[in-house]
Amino acid sequence: MRLANLWKLPLPHLLAETDQNGDWIKCNARWSQYSGLSATSSTGMRWIEVIHQDDISAVQRGWRIGIEAKSHFELTMRLQRASDASYRWHVCHIVPLADEQGDIPGWLVSFTDIHGGKSQQEGDHSSVAKLQSEREVLATSNDYLLEVLREYRETEIRLEKATEKLNQIVETQSHLSQAEIDMAAFTQLVTEKMLTVTPATGAFIESIEGEEMVYQAASGAARQFEGMRLNLLNSLSGLCVIDRKALIAEDTANDSRVNHEACKKIAAASMVVTPLYEDGNVVGVLKIISDTPYAFDDNDLKTLEMMAGLIGAAIGRKIRLQEKEDLLEAKSLTLMQLEQEVEQRKRIEERLKANEMRTRRIIESSHEAFVAMDAGGFITDWNLKAEETFGWTATEAIGRKLSDLIIPPGLRERHETGMRKFIATGQGIVLGKRLELLALNIKGEKIPVEITISAISVREKWQFYAFLHDISERKQTEQKLRHLAQYDSLTSLPNRALFYDRLNQALARAHRNEAQFALMYLDIDRFKSINDTHGHGVGDELLTAFSNRIQLIIRESDTLARLGGDEFVIIAENIGDQGDAEHIAQKILWAMKQAFQLNKLSIQVGTSIGVALLPAHDVSADDLVRMADKALYSAKEAGRNTYKVYEAATQAAEKPHH
Ligand code: GH3
Ligand code: MG
Repeated sequence: MRLANLWKLPLPHLLAETDQNGDWIKCNARWSQYSGLSATSSTGMRWIEVIHQDDISAVQRGWRIGIEAKSHFELTMRLQRASDASYRWHVCHIVPLADEQGDIPGWLVSFTDIHGGKSQQEGDHSSVAKLQSEREVLATSNDYLLEVLREYRETEIRLEKATEKLNQIVETQSHLSQAEIDMAAFTQLVTEKMLTVTPATGAFIESIEGEEMVYQAASGAARQFEGMRLNLLNSLSGLCVIDRKALIAEDTANDSRVNHEACKKIAAASMVVTPLYEDGNVVGVLKIISDTPYAFDDNDLKTLEMMAGLIGAAIGRKIRLQEKEDLLEAKSLTLMQLEQEVEQRKRIEERLKANEMRTRRIIESSHEAFVAMDAGGFITDWNLKAEETFGWTATEAIGRKLSDLIIPPGLRERHETGMRKFIATGQGIVLGKRLELLALNIKGEKIPVEITISAISVREKWQFYAFLHDISERKQTEQKLRHLAQYDSLTSLPNRALFYDRLNQALARAHRNEAQFALMYLDIDRFKSINDTHGHGVGDELLTAFSNRIQLIIRESDTLARLGGDEFVIIAENIGDQGDAEHIAQKILWAMKQAFQLNKLSIQVGTSIGVALLPAHDVSADDLVRMADKALYSAKEAGRNTYKVYEAATQAAEKPHH
């Protein structure tokens, strides 16, 4: 918003503005009309000419003291009215006009005619009280008006300063169009101008060459670093190129995005960097630095962007040494570029908005639950699927701590430290990978989820995003498949594969504890005939009943497995000696005396058992199975329904059974 010129406002007040020393520099039309002094003939201290002789010395003294005190002051005096040469009493308010830095570049002076009050006060004492209150009302309204005017003028001063800055930028830009100006000289000029329009102690133009940023032109303290090269990926300039936006590092020493070594070298305690475009492509950056932290604010960032916007395209072209641009007249070029800039901004904004909406739609319709979290660990986004998965609605979830809501208590500590570490170092072990974790739902149940977490820096703040889905079903299927792969479907006993696992474990344990265990190989006698007589179904039932009965005989810590057909094995751990193993075999044989009751059929079977005990020397699982199998063969040979213990030296030796 542009303010109308204060000096052209039709105010009833006599107004003037002074410089910082209190010398008049301008006045309004009312003043000239009242005093008969033109604007120019009132400058300096010449306005004093219209003050009453008797008031002059008091005014001069008061004026000097007031200006030196640098705050609002008030003087009363008689001013001669040009129209009738009469002197009228005025209160003169003098208020300081402060700029952004708090300096006082000038003063606003306003006069209020109080002649009625002053003259009557001297004569007519009866109405003193009434006049007094009228004066107060007048003074209050005058104060108010003055306050408004002061703000008004201060805004104008700021605008003037900004315009001045803009002028400098435009002026710099117009240099470019002045024919064949040397590029090096021009970039030099640009970087030098940056020192006058911002509090920078150094300025650079950097161009992109491959994966490096090269310091093309520099000014101020930075001058000596022209030609320096930096890895693009490892600097704020690089980030600026990638993010395509102006970035400010208020305190480089504590900013993980900057190249600390380079900052130290060029004495950049704070910096602002903005991209230079050519045809929409970033071709370099304009950078200002300061040797003190927190030297720059948003205004400097805007100034830098404005400079880059106005000169960027041209510089970009020249940096790339491409076709020579058509030189246009300075003013129209500026205007055109401004318009283009505005157009481009609009297009970018529209594209961003469209992108955002598209992202939103994708997130909302996603089959994955989407959860976003800020650097403080608070939930910032929660889609429909997240509501379904966890049971919390978006309204309930957003704003709450993610860890309190969906991370099981046992995992919270790890989550917090992981996040802190990432924010401090930019490194996280969980980012970008598909992970399986446990999460809590609204009922407090732990649900397995598959999750991919990513982190993005948005306006210098980290945002974490996660896509995830409930994998309870998959986990159950996996569990089933695992069971299928390890257990026999008929008897539910461990199958051959799991048996070998358990056997190897038993071997390792026995080795470690110097313990003994026995491997017993069982094969039902004449099982084929049961199949043949009663059918395969009955055979199956018998296999199950058989395994159930054996299970009752052995200890819970022992393993009974089915190797296939009518063959079973037992790993009997923690047995004392051969006698213990034989005792188990005898119990099994004894148990076979009882017929199996199957579907109204009463079937009795015998079983042959081969026993192998762990020998003194090392053996493999296969060796042990072979030993037990050999012993089983001996038992079959010996007429079935008996057991044999494998003995290496006396393989043929048989032990009688009852
Ligand atoms: P032996 O005393 O020599 O052991 O005689 P056997 O008849 O039991 O002979 P063997 O152990 O070699 O035969 C086992 C039979 O078990 C062979 C096969 O028909 C039968 N069989 C294998 N798997 C199954 C099964 O899953 N269910 C049923 N019902 N029978 C099976
Ligand atoms: Mg058999």
